[in-house]
Amino acid sequence: MIVTAPVIVWFRHDFRLADNAALTAAVETGAPVLCIHILDDAAGQVAARWWLGRALESFDAALRPLDGGLHVFHGPAIRVLPAVVAATGAQAVFWNRRYDPEGRETDTRLKAMLKEQGTPAHSFAGALLHEPWTIRTRMGQPYHVFGAYWRAACQMGHERPPLPAPERIAFATLDPAGLPPTAEVGAVGREMRATGWTEGLEEAWTPGEAAAREALEQFLDGPLEDYARDRDFPARPATSGLSPFLCWGHITPAQIRQAAVAQPRAAGLAKFMAELGWRDFAWSVLFACPDLASRNLRPEFDAMAWRRDPDGLRAWQRGRTGYPLVDAGMRQLWRTGWMHNRVRMVAASFLVKHLLIDWREGERWFARTLVDYDPASNGMNWQWVAGTGVEAAPFFRMMNPLIQSRKFDPSGAYIRTWVPELAGLSDTQIHAPWLAGGVAGYPAPIVVHEAARERALAAWRALRGQA
Ligand code: FAD
Repeated sequence: MIVTAPVIVWFRHDFRLADNAALTAAVETGAPVLCIHILDDAAGQVAARWWLGRALESFDAALRPLDGGLHVFHGPAIRVLPAVVAATGAQAVFWNRRYDPEGRETDTRLKAMLKEQGTPAHSFAGALLHEPWTIRTRMGQPYHVFGAYWRAACQMGHERPPLPAPERIAFATLDPAGLPPTAEVGAVGREMRATGWTEGLEEAWTPGEAAAREALEQFLDGPLEDYARDRDFPARPATSGLSPFLCWGHITPAQIRQAAVAQPRAAGLAKFMAELGWRDFAWSVLFACPDLASRNLRPEFDAMAWRRDPDGLRAWQRGRTGYPLVDAGMRQLWRTGWMHNRVRMVAASFLVKHLLIDWREGERWFARTLVDYDPASNGMNWQWVAGTGVEAAPFFRMMNPLIQSRKFDPSGAYIRTWVPELAGLSDTQIHAPWLAGGVAGYPAPIVVHEAARERALAAWRALRGQA
């Protein structure tokens, strides 16, 4: 009997059957397919690890009816993948490209190592509308301004049509002899559940491809129409909630785009597509500036006199600043691993400007607690809010949390959901409980807006030598 050597598909942030170019190409070889994931240590990204655990479970469950399954290995990919290739005699490896600096470096090294081993590695696009190096100025430089970037992207067109899921997959059987240590698919999920921090995440999310499709359909059926008008109001179900599904590759932007443009023309479509464009733009910024999450893109901010304030940082993290909108957002994040975009901006601005704490502290906290954490969107948005980034709001433009609260949560419905101790206040009082004499159990503001504003502006003037 002739045994055909298998091909390996290495799944990373692409847990889906449909529009998965690496999987489709592997199936088309006609060789038996081995689906694997390699668990390394994403230390610090706690909520993201919970999602990963559930994503592994749901993807494995999706492969079962096709008579297959997902094999999970433990350890650094640079060691594990060549060992799996050697032990299985695989004839080729397929993966979808990732664009974070460490991932790119690992993939480049692995491609070279596998080639030396005589096994080609084939990589494919899928996670973005446009790969990060494709949209360039006429001078061949990366764009620094979103408007110009998005105009160029739209002119280029978003041509890649999404692929259907393979109808059949001939799976390889795995002989454990000689293989690196495997992990049981449910192990990460269980490890996370054991931390006792996952109850809110479990309530809020169902990771997986089917849930991603459902979220998309719900969004297209209703909120898309008024998206441009309503997206800044955190109490309204106005945004898609697709960010973690996109982050983990349960769905692709090409699938979302195709489904959205097929709708009877919705008023919110252009704005929604532009938000997907921001996601692409963030990856192109990270591609050009690999230390986006750790280095001020405007180097003059290296001399900024950030404050060391562990108590302030802790109050912000736990939603106890005394500013209801900020606290509601930070508690939503802690409970569900997600926060509404408008409130992310207000909460981030509060940390950086009102507390004058280095934006990198906030970036790290979001990386730890967001289920949709990615180094591109997180790094770019933090630098945008802090005024340290490429196309950033100037540092001196401070968001007033009280004005933001009255404008975007006028009835206080969002605050009531996440800060229940304030639920009894009137629609007017709820934005500033201190004006109503305070509420037992809820902190007084940890900084006074006007004083914090003066302090931030003084630090900014000192930075510019204008003190
Ligand atoms: P929708 O409004 O439905 O938008 C559709 C999609 O467009 C989103 O799913 C997302 O993929 C993309 N998108 C929307 N806004 C942005 C934006 N400002 N930047 C980049 N992409 C965007 N988003 C992340 O996915 N991961 C992060 O780690 C992240 N960190 C952030 C940190 C800060 C300080 C701020 C201000 C924003 C951050 N964002 C991040 C962007 C944004 O808040 C989320 O993408 C959005 O809230 C997700 O909700 P949604 O899917 O309902 O968005």
